[in-house]
This record gives sequence, structure tokens and C-alpha cells, in this order.
Amino acid sequence: MTDTAHAPTSIAVLTSGGDAGGMNAAVRAVVRTAISRDADAYVIQDGWQGLVDGGQAIRRVSSADVGGILHRGGTVFGTARCEAFRTRQGRREGVRHLLERGIDALVVIGGDGSLTGANIFREEWPGVVTELAEAGEVTAEVAASHPVLRLVGLAGSIDNDMSGTDMTIGADTALHRITEALDSIRSTASSHQRTFVVEVMGRHCGYLALTAGLATAANWLLIPEHPPEGGDWAQEMCAAMRAGHEIGRRQSLVLVTEGSQSREGEPITAERVKEVLEEQLGEDTRVTILGHVQRGGAPSAIDRVLATRLGHAAVERLLADPPDTTPQLIGIRGNEVASSPLMECVTRTHEVAERIAQQDYEGAMLLRGGSFPESQTILSTMQQAAPRPTAHGRRRFRLAVLHGGGPAPGMNTAVRAAVRLGLNRGYSVLTVKNGFLGLRNGDIQEMEWMSVSGWVSEGGADIGTNRYVPDEPAIAQIAKQLAAHRIDGILMAGGWSGYQAAHLLHTHRQKYAALDIPIICMPMTINNDLPGTELTIGSDTALNSIVADVDKIRQSAVASRRVFVVEVMGHDCGYLALMAGVATGAELIYLPEREITLNDLCVDVRNLTERFRSGKRLGLVIRSESADPVYTTDFITSVFQKEGGDLFDARPAILGHVQEGGDPSPFDRVQATGLTAHCIEYLAEQLESGGRASAMIGFQSGRLQFTDLTSYPRLIEDTAQRPREQRWMNQLPLAEIMTV
Ligand code: ADP
Repeated sequence: MTDTAHAPTSIAVLTSGGDAGGMNAAVRAVVRTAISRDADAYVIQDGWQGLVDGGQAIRRVSSADVGGILHRGGTVFGTARCEAFRTRQGRREGVRHLLERGIDALVVIGGDGSLTGANIFREEWPGVVTELAEAGEVTAEVAASHPVLRLVGLAGSIDNDMSGTDMTIGADTALHRITEALDSIRSTASSHQRTFVVEVMGRHCGYLALTAGLATAANWLLIPEHPPEGGDWAQEMCAAMRAGHEIGRRQSLVLVTEGSQSREGEPITAERVKEVLEEQLGEDTRVTILGHVQRGGAPSAIDRVLATRLGHAAVERLLADPPDTTPQLIGIRGNEVASSPLMECVTRTHEVAERIAQQDYEGAMLLRGGSFPESQTILSTMQQAAPRPTAHGRRRFRLAVLHGGGPAPGMNTAVRAAVRLGLNRGYSVLTVKNGFLGLRNGDIQEMEWMSVSGWVSEGGADIGTNRYVPDEPAIAQIAKQLAAHRIDGILMAGGWSGYQAAHLLHTHRQKYAALDIPIICMPMTINNDLPGTELTIGSDTALNSIVADVDKIRQSAVASRRVFVVEVMGHDCGYLALMAGVATGAELIYLPEREITLNDLCVDVRNLTERFRSGKRLGLVIRSESADPVYTTDFITSVFQKEGGDLFDARPAILGHVQEGGDPSPFDRVQATGLTAHCIEYLAEQLESGGRASAMIGFQSGRLQFTDLTSYPRLIEDTAQRPREQRWMNQLPLAEIMTV
């Protein structure tokens, strides 16, 4: 509950430390939330430097002042390393500058250094205020009305190195830049027979290298938290590389985090890796240091949405808490906004670096927690040149992998992971061409370790997918094929019709013995419309594709006053529309979940017209393709065009199938790989224990969850293609606040 009597009336925000994609979105969210709650919003230019300098560097801002910045890289408000702020005198100036403006609430967006500084600033505040009053630099009333500083921190750092949040603002954007660079390097490397050694940023944190390694199938990885386990890292690396060449790998990629070291603490640089490879293997080896490329470029969709959520939550927290509350770090845990005491997070962050310095690598990995150790294990399995040998050369179970539904970016990544992780468990893995149609026709093929080489980054679906759902006779044929190919378990990685078909097979298990096998459904569709999960793989790629297109559309309109009505995919599910709206700063969002009425349209047109009258130059409307059967994209555009008169014109932009294509985003690649690993594990558990349960895998509140496939019909709407529960709808009020 908000205690309005104590709520701050002025809130300031600054970005500090290394710049990171999404910082602009966070500042925008802080400012707009503050204003929507009747507080004054201030932006401090150039981080702590602006605080120390005062004057024009601390500016009261309006909602419009933070418009048009979502798509820009880094921080448009500037950041600086500030030595003066490390001194008490510098911080004293800072207190004075805030008091002069009646500000005693601060949101700091930065890394552990910036947040440590913020904490010191807050601790000193009461003493400095008394001192300033005694020196006559502020009045007694001002001093009395601002006895403490309210402080909230947001972790802004490309390294994803902060304890207390699953993701820092900027890490996903950096991952996009790294993945783009590595995809390009891979394509040139395979033209010649070459090894590339690439240095990735991260200071003491291997997150970027590990995640990029998963996303681009790196062949060897050096991260500070997990040096190679053998006695001699160089020998171990060379043996792995040699094995790769022997099975015909034409190119190799080694990723090195900047702070890597051997088990004994000897630094390992990219140059050192190159020397070793050249000396021991005589390889043509090239070094690329990615450097500041990793910081720049347009922020990813995830970072824009994350930063918006966190900026909003930071202000809500400042408004709700009593003034002397312990400062909190607002982060994200399991897709929920979560707060923890700021200094505990900073201390735990430093602890990882200390463990690494003490060569306590197990401790460092444990402190990293979450999916970090699991990702490391998956990557090292996928890197192998061959599966682990099976006992007596016999493969124990036979797994079939197939898709169903529309194509989703990440499908190839999932098949690759299924083949390798299945083979490594000692199973045979078969792929079915063209979904359930192929299963009916027996279009089934046994896969080898190298059959899926290079599949990690490819868009589309190499084994094919379609929306075919079998009828009764086809189900009988499918049962026959499953028996003929002695299939023990099925992984269906797909969308709506894939789920329908898998559930149908499951309901026929009493009738046909061959269907009485474990089936696991993995959610892969751009629409995010599946039951048993709050997120589907493929939707992040589609969202990034929409965001990139809308950024271009915005640019195209610089010279005119215009409203764009952008139609996005999603069938009956408005997820893409809402998230794209948040990520691009749309003024209006129309979703299938909320009926459009003529009255709504009238109000919307009137409001937008009003905003154009007071200087707006560009309006953005995002409409989900099935938002309404009558008020179509063309209809809405015509209404805006007519009503805009001389003030603005209106244009439709139907983004179409580009949203389903493209190479999968790093997030989708990593999730496709991680979820597949859990699917294979699920099937393995069933098969090894003689169980025959079937399930849908997914995320609930960001955590992995298996839902019994039998419950499928109960979890979906009767008349629309979407699940009954859609937690992302909670973000709707946020989208509305951000357009104030
Ligand atoms: P990051 O926030 O990304 O970790 P830095 O460590 O460079 O980046 O910190 C950014 C700024 O925060 C510094 O230039 C300094 O002004 C301030 N700062 C960092 N550590 C402290 C500290 N211990 N005391 C006071 N200010 C600090």
C-alpha cells in the first residue's frame, strides 16, 4: 500500500558506469511512472558527474522529453567515470544539488561500482544534510523535510554479473551483438579451413561467453568460473580440436572471456590460445577481440521490455516504502520483478570474483547459480566430437523428433540438441519429415552426431513442419509406423496444431499399443499461444524482427506527420502485439483479448489527434492480426486518415511472414537448447523407469514446469486459439502508463 503522506514528490534518475542497451528504456519508464503518479521527475546527465556538477546537469523533465529514445543504443543521458564522487566533498556537492531541487529519491542504473557509490551517498546523506544546514547552505526547513535519501538500484551492465537479478539491463543486447559477430565469423571461417579465437567481454563473469557459446556452437570455451578441469588446459583444448578435425569439422571457434585463467590462476588470453593452437596443431588461427561492438547498437526487445518493467517497479517501490527503508535492488527472478537489499547483492557479486581469485571454482559456479552450471554442462556435451560410447555398442531406446504447426525460429536448434543429447544418452534418435503427415507416411530417418552440424543458428525448420492434424484412419497408420520403427518415445517441438496432434495420439493410447509411449510437447511458435507455458520459443525472434521493422518505419516518417498502423501476427493471441507495443513505445495497442468498440476507436482517434495538435509528429498503433473482424487494419487506418485531416496522415504496415523467418535470436537458441535437454531427460526418466506419462514442458513464473498432456483440453479456450491463462496480460497497464 502506498503511504502517500510519506511518498516522495520528486524523483531523480541517473545512468552510471559502463553504458548498456536498455538504459534509455529504464530512464523513460522511471520518468513516465513518476509523472503518472504525480511526482516531479528529474534526469541527471552523465551519472555521478552530473550530480556533482549540478546546474543544467540536473533537469526536470516531461514525458515528452523522454520520447523517441527506446531504440537508441547505450544511454542518451550520458554516463561518466567520476573521480570527484569517490570523495566526500564531491558527494556533499551532490546532496546540496538534490536538496536545492527538493529531491530525496533516487533511482541509480549502473553496475556494482555505481551502486556501491550510491549506497555510500545514501549512508552519508543525513550527516551531510545537518552539515549543510549548519553551514547555512540549505535552510533548516529543507534539511528537516529531507532527512534521508530514498534509493533504489537497477543493475545496468552488459556482463550479467549482478547477484539479485537473473538478467542485468544490457546483457541480452550484448548477446545479440556477439552472436551476430560470431555468426559472421563462422561463415568466413568455413570458407577457409580456419580456427577463430574470439575474446568476449565479461570481466569476472563468463555469462556472455557461455551463452554466446551455446547460441553459436562454440567448440571450446574459456570462462573465469570454470577453467578446463584437466591438468593442462592447452593439451586438453588441443585434443578436443584434433578430435573435431578428425570427424571432418572444417572450422573451429574458441571463445575466451577477457578475465579467463587456468585452474592454477595463470591468465589465459586470446593471443595465448592462438599461440598454443599454432604451435601444437599448426593451425591457421585468427584472433578477433570484439571489444566495444558488444556495447553498441539498438537494444534488443528483451532489454527494452525488461528495462521498462524494472524502471516502473523502481518508482512504485520508492512510492510505497517508508523513507528509511534499506535500499533495494530491483531485478527480475523467474520472469517476476523481485527486490533484494542492494548491498547484499553487491557483496555477493564481489564474492564470485573473490572465489575465482582464490581458485575456488566450484564455489564461484555455485554462487552464479541458476542455469549457469547447467548451460555449461550442456555446452560441453554438444561440443564433443562424438557421443559417449554405449555399453556393448547397443542403443537402448529409440526417440522420434518431429514438429507440428507453423515454422518457429529455433526449430533447427532444438532438433540439433535432441539428436546430440539423445545419442549421448545411448539412444537412437530419428527425425520425422513434415510433421504428423510424415509420421503417417513413415518418412522417418535415423540421425548421426554430425547430421545436425551447423544447425544451431539456422532459421526455418529443416525437417519440415505443417499444420496437419491426423484423423482416425491416419492415427491408425501412425500407430503402425511407430511400431514398425520401434519408437519408444516422441519429442514434438512445435505449435498449436502440433499440440493438437500430440494430444490426439495420447488419447488413442488405449486403442493402439504403439501409441502408449511417452510424448513430450515443447512449445515452439512465434505466437506464444500454447498451454502449459507462459513463453514459447520463437516469439523472441519474432518480437525482435517486429521491433527492428518498427524502428525503420519510425525513421521513414521523420519528414511527415503520420500515424502508422502496424499489423503483427499472433492468431488469437495478442502477446506479440502487446510486447511489441511496450518495446517500441506504441501509443495504441489492439489485442484479440480485448474487443474493440466503436466508442474506443472514437476516444483513441480524439486523444491522438489532440497529441498531434500539441506537437506530436509520429503516432504508432500496433494491431494484432485478429484483434477484431470488423475493425481491420485498413479500416482503422482509414479512420485515422480521415480524422487526421491536415494534422496528420495515416498508413498501414502489415509486417507479414517476415516475423516467422530469420535466424533465431540468441535467447531462442539458448532456450531451444535448454528446454530440449529437459525434454530428453523427461523421456529418459519415463523410459528408464518403465513410465509412459506424457507432458507439455514450459515456463511458469519463469520456472521450468511439466504439465500432464491429459489436461491439454482444459487449459485452452473453447472458441479461440490461445490458453485460458495468459500472465503476460498483466503488462497491459504498464503499456498504458508508458504512453502518457
Ligand atoms: P560500474 O557501475 O559499471 O561498476 P564503475 O565501477 O566504473 O562502473 O563505477 C562508476 C562510477 O561509480 C565511478 O566512476 C564512481 O564515480 C562511482 N563509484 C564506484 N565505486 C565507488 C565507491 N566505492 N565509492 C564512491 N563512488 C564509487
